[in-house]
Amino acid sequence: MTSTALRAPQSQPPEAHSLLGKLNGPWHKRALRVFTIIVVIHLAEHLVQAYQVYVLKWPLHQARGVLGQAFPWLVHSEVLHYGYALIMLVGIWTLLPGFVGRSRAWWLAALVIQFWHHIEHALLQGQAIAGRTLFGAPVPTSIVQLWIPRLELHLFYNTLVFVPMMVAMYYHVFPRTPDAARMRCSCALRSHPATA
Ligand SMILES: [Zn+2]
Repeated sequence: MTSTALRAPQSQPPEAHSLLGKLNGPWHKRALRVFTIIVVIHLAEHLVQAYQVYVLKWPLHQARGVLGQAFPWLVHSEVLHYGYALIMLVGIWTLLPGFVGRSRAWWLAALVIQFWHHIEHALLQGQAIAGRTLFGAPVPTSIVQLWIPRLELHLFYNTLVFVPMMVAMYYHVFPRTPDAARMRCSCALRSHPATA
């Protein structure tokens, strides 16, 4: 038996052929791009809503971002807010294995923050389903909303998730040499043995 025959099975680990393996390997770059576009559009909607309230002085219930002006039910449907929080949680979790070293720590931080953000939305969604509100509030209310109003809180949450995501992507695109050697995707702009 030659040494090549012994090495061959190790060069293609079985998990590389699974969907998760592909999303964190050859498809990582494309998946991250699509996911980032979705996240940026959503964050922009929160920023536009804050602009409508603070700069344009619109009443809160009329400040619905851009898409919400044409489709008010997008903003008023609790299940869509919950659905988006869940998609974001699943997206961050799904693309985590592709991150190694320093970038992984930042992506993991985004995952932890989004996990809590998602719990807050689950509480809101639970109240919408049960037809009762927590803390005797007139509308569904999450825990941190006891101290920070909903518009500001969710702009804050989305920013708090976005910042570590961007730091993680920076370190992912410009990895240190030891990190670069362990990457299975083509995201790094600096060439290294794994992608050369
Ligand atoms: Zn990647």
